[in-house]
Amino acid sequence: MPSASYGSSRYYPRRSRRKGNSRVSVSNRNNTAETCASGSSSNGIPTTVMNSQPPHNPPYDLRRKSPPYPVLENGFPNLRKRPRRSCSVNTDIFSPPAAHYLQYELPDEVLLTIFSYLLEKDLCRLSQVCKRFQTIANDNGLWKRLYHNIFEYDIPLFNPEPCKFEFIPPNDCEYANPWKESFRQLYRGIHVRPGQGSRYKARGRSLAHFDTVQTALDHADENPSTGVPSIVFLHAGTYRGEFLVIDTDVALIGAAPGNVAEAVVLERQSGSTMMFGDGAKSAYAGHLTLKFTPDVASTVLHHKHYCLEVGENCSPTIDHCIIRSTSVVGAAVCVSGQGAAPIIKHCDISDCENVGLYVTDYAHGTYEDNEISRNALAGIWVKNYANPIMRRNHIHHGRDVGIFTFDNGLGFFEANDIHNNRIAGFEVKAGANPTVVQCEIHHGQTGGIYVHENGLGQFIDNRIHSNNFAGVWITSNSNPTIRRNEIYNGQQGGVYIFGEGRGLIEHNNIYGNALAGIQIRTNSDPIVRHNKIHHGQHGGIYVHEKGEGLIEENEVYANTLAGVWITTGSTPVLRRNRIHSGKQVGVYFYDNGHGKLEDNDIFNHLYSGVQIRTGSNPVIRGNKIWGGQNGGVLVYNGGLGLLEQNEIFDNAMAGVWIKTDSNPTLKRNKIFDGRDGGICIFNGGKGILEENDIFRNAQAGVLISTQSHPVLRHNRIFDGLAAGIEITLNATATLENNQIFNNRFGGLCLATGVNPIVRCNKIFSNQDAVEKAVRNGQCLYKISSYTSFPMHDFYRCQTCNTTGRNAICVNCIKTCHAGHEVEFVRHDRFFCDCGAGTLCNQCQLQGEPAQDTDTLYDSAEPMESHTLMVN
Ligand SMILES: [Zn+2]
Ligand SMILES: [Zn+2]
Ligand SMILES: [Zn+2]
Repeated sequence: MPSASYGSSRYYPRRSRRKGNSRVSVSNRNNTAETCASGSSSNGIPTTVMNSQPPHNPPYDLRRKSPPYPVLENGFPNLRKRPRRSCSVNTDIFSPPAAHYLQYELPDEVLLTIFSYLLEKDLCRLSQVCKRFQTIANDNGLWKRLYHNIFEYDIPLFNPEPCKFEFIPPNDCEYANPWKESFRQLYRGIHVRPGQGSRYKARGRSLAHFDTVQTALDHADENPSTGVPSIVFLHAGTYRGEFLVIDTDVALIGAAPGNVAEAVVLERQSGSTMMFGDGAKSAYAGHLTLKFTPDVASTVLHHKHYCLEVGENCSPTIDHCIIRSTSVVGAAVCVSGQGAAPIIKHCDISDCENVGLYVTDYAHGTYEDNEISRNALAGIWVKNYANPIMRRNHIHHGRDVGIFTFDNGLGFFEANDIHNNRIAGFEVKAGANPTVVQCEIHHGQTGGIYVHENGLGQFIDNRIHSNNFAGVWITSNSNPTIRRNEIYNGQQGGVYIFGEGRGLIEHNNIYGNALAGIQIRTNSDPIVRHNKIHHGQHGGIYVHEKGEGLIEENEVYANTLAGVWITTGSTPVLRRNRIHSGKQVGVYFYDNGHGKLEDNDIFNHLYSGVQIRTGSNPVIRGNKIWGGQNGGVLVYNGGLGLLEQNEIFDNAMAGVWIKTDSNPTLKRNKIFDGRDGGICIFNGGKGILEENDIFRNAQAGVLISTQSHPVLRHNRIFDGLAAGIEITLNATATLENNQIFNNRFGGLCLATGVNPIVRCNKIFSNQDAVEKAVRNGQCLYKISSYTSFPMHDFYRCQTCNTTGRNAICVNCIKTCHAGHEVEFVRHDRFFCDCGAGTLCNQCQLQGEPAQDTDTLYDSAEPMESHTLMVN
């Protein structure tokens, strides 16, 4: 036939290259617009050319000229390439009429129907007759039907290399006829399909077929393939009672339509279902269900029986298997012994009544993308120097721990998702030393990570969150490394170290936990450094019950309670931390809290920067304590402590409060720029204050009040915006060798009845603003307002009021209360209530209205922490 239309002749190869279910139904032959649209242009012909073809062209029209085809390869046509041009254009002249008819007149549809009665070998032979036959004999539909008949898969399965089997949907693979290519790759396979032997031993076909798995394996052993493992296809059904010991390189793979693994079940009751042993280097088991279902009535012990057992010196690949064990002892999968190194991937080990996966006795192996869930015991056990690699496994809803490493177990665990287990997500015990990176450990019904009894381990870059107990527990001489983890939203604390726990806790981000970010307790002694501990619903770091620890360079901030609490005999060392912006105290020592607080930056707390009480006796040295919305340091209720070389500044209230029987020692501190007094000692406070520089504070440099008895030596108190030292209300003091100068309200101001011991002080160049105001006839309220308390002579007016709490300055007495009945109260710290406008009469020296000041008789009270004692 002449090639009347080149465009038409281009049409056919396009058809032949359709992928997947490319066969055009004979009854639907005119529907070419759809088939063109669905074809790819991998041959380089633009789609517009394809779409321009006349719709009436038959799909197998080889009577028109075709482009050249490449040669065959390996006896099978390489369908990625075009078939060889094999027909001479002139043969028709010499052909007998029947052959001519067959080749040139018989329609494609009829040929296709004839071919559909043939089997794979005949089709291969036919495809070598001529290019028209080749094309029709390679029809996707013909091969798909043949393929289903033999292999049963819905999607073609490829075996590109030993131990690798993959389903690739026809439209996604590069082969022109994926069914035929899969057939080719799997052709050497041995089929186990009970009662279906005739299907495999039909005329024109010789495929190995057996009725049992064991006979198929025996056949494979006796007839080894050269260079590649034998393949045994297990077709749909339940195979019971066969104990499969595999010690050669054979591949066992399920074969069924639909979900393959669910359809092919290997089940055993008396012992292990499948076992790989020495020699199974490149063995494979895939797309199978393995069940071990011991008889509950039997008395046989099943501790050593498993669904799947991998022994010494073998490295099989187990892929896409469903593994179920109802044995209440042992494990579903056991990998043990030197040289045991399987690849177990995409398996589903769930709903077992024992441990899911057990790796022990020096075994290795790679375990990836498995689903391990709802097992009665641990999801995974790793023990006795086993060192598996486990990646991207999903381990959840276990009725015990998620992963348990113990008795010197090792392992590398990466990117596993571990959640909703009833016990800890990851447990380490008894010398185990796993490496755990980039895992997510969350929503555990107890804690996240539990390391105990000399456990070790490296936990790096994990996300540990939303667990019911602490994110990380470390106890009983364990010493893990916890580095760069995110530990957050726990329903208790972040990291909890107790019972002589140790550990290196560094560079973690710990936040939003319901209890302390880090808790150190009962003789534990961890190193905690470079962590961020913040936005806890409780405190930041809590050290109690003889806790120790080296706590360095952490940032502790924005916690609801104290930044750091130290109590009950604890002696941690805190250095160079930034502790700030807490909603209560910065660092809180109470009930015999001790330890060292050195070179920390403590600022912007709602309560005091540092509080010391009830027998606590810390060393506090070289810190900056500043910017607090209350005082700098509060020592009370019998608190002690050595405060040395600290800088305490810019606090809203006193730099240091000492009250209620406290007796700290303050040496060489700088206490300055306070928005209230420098040091305020009252309610029986004591203390030894030596060589401190106290300057530029808004109120008295040192206020000593209400039965207090401190000793001040060699201090410098200067540039204050009120008095240098004020002593009042039955306090006394020993003042030796102090320098008091350039204070606005005077140097040393003593209230009536106060008699301190005063030796060798230098008091000079003070401004005496109070005296000047008195001399100038001003009301003292003018220089004090209601926020400070200039010490001077104060009076009461019996004509104007009756309460003893009000006081009136001498100038107001002379002017505003002239002619009234007045009496002298005493020389002491007051402000003038007449000037403040709180009396009935109008002050004539002070026009401005002022607030009620009845309650502001003394410096404001320090705020004490009400931190809850929860552990
Ligand atoms: Zn006055
Ligand atoms: Zn009066
Ligand atoms: Zn007045």
